[in-house]
Amino acid sequence: MTAQLIDGNALSKKLRGEVAARAAALTAQGLKPGLAVVLVGDNPASQVYVRNKVKACEEAGLHSVLEKYDASLTEAALLARVDALNQDPTIHGILVQLPLPAHIDAHKVIEAIAPEKDVDGFHVASAGALMVGQEGFKPCTPYGCMKMLEYIGYETRGKHAVVIGRSNIVGKPMAMLLLQANATVTVCHSATPDLAHFTRQADIVVAAVGKRNVLTADMVKPGAVVLDVGMNRTDDGKLCGDVDFAGVSQVAGWITPVPGGVGPMTITMLLVNTIESAERAAQSVDR
Ligand code: NAP
Repeated sequence: MTAQLIDGNALSKKLRGEVAARAAALTAQGLKPGLAVVLVGDNPASQVYVRNKVKACEEAGLHSVLEKYDASLTEAALLARVDALNQDPTIHGILVQLPLPAHIDAHKVIEAIAPEKDVDGFHVASAGALMVGQEGFKPCTPYGCMKMLEYIGYETRGKHAVVIGRSNIVGKPMAMLLLQANATVTVCHSATPDLAHFTRQADIVVAAVGKRNVLTADMVKPGAVVLDVGMNRTDDGKLCGDVDFAGVSQVAGWITPVPGGVGPMTITMLLVNTIESAERAAQSVDR
């Protein structure tokens, strides 16, 4: 079997077009949606990520502010900036790019973001809302994975989903979203013995580990949907995921490529969250 590709670029284009239309409608009402991206230090990967996020905002007609600070910025100074952005009515989403320098407590900084502007969905209020099924911002990467399942018309109800990885930003929220979508969910991690035993039973596998070839063809049930969140480099420097794409695509029914799969969807869902935040702000002004 040769898997069908889930094209994250094509889906992103469609969703970003919808965001652009919503942004234009809000702007016409006098409220331009705004995202602030805060970068501390000179991590090269983070610099690329923030540049891509700001570019995507501009292309969709959102106002974006990129605040770049030297790695020596104090925690107190960063908290003060977050507080100022919380108060800024032109900003509807605040994203503090992780990782932060070691002297800054990332949890403290994320908790300082007003939950109504937490478009990354990392605040405990957002995580709690997801846990109990209340309205809140969903973390962008797992949210993007759910949109991909919706895009291919995949019925998650009653299916067995195996999530590999249990981080707060990908694995755990992914498991919660799949659970909400009525899948039966198994979460695997570094202490899981015999990972293949679990993945072979899965109708949906989400790989969010950060290691090449964590999922190989012999670990996948024929016809399964495989979503590859991982971002790694091959020995010759090319971007690749956690999944052995060449092998797994011979067994799976659907598969996301890397690049061009989950990656663009993460940025797209950031735009979706930001526009939702701005729309909520517009409604509260109207009231
Ligand atoms: P993370 O915080 O390092 O978490 C990795 C998870 O993988 C942990 O839960 C870890 O288990 C588990 N793990 C490690 N080795 C394993 C193994 N051999 N078998 C099973 N599980 C194993 O990473 P993350 O932030 O979730 O990110 C995961 C990957 O996704 C990275 O490559 C990252 O770059 C990528 N990513 C991509 C996007 C995107 O937009 N495409 C967005 C976010 C992240 P323990 O908990 O036991 O340590």
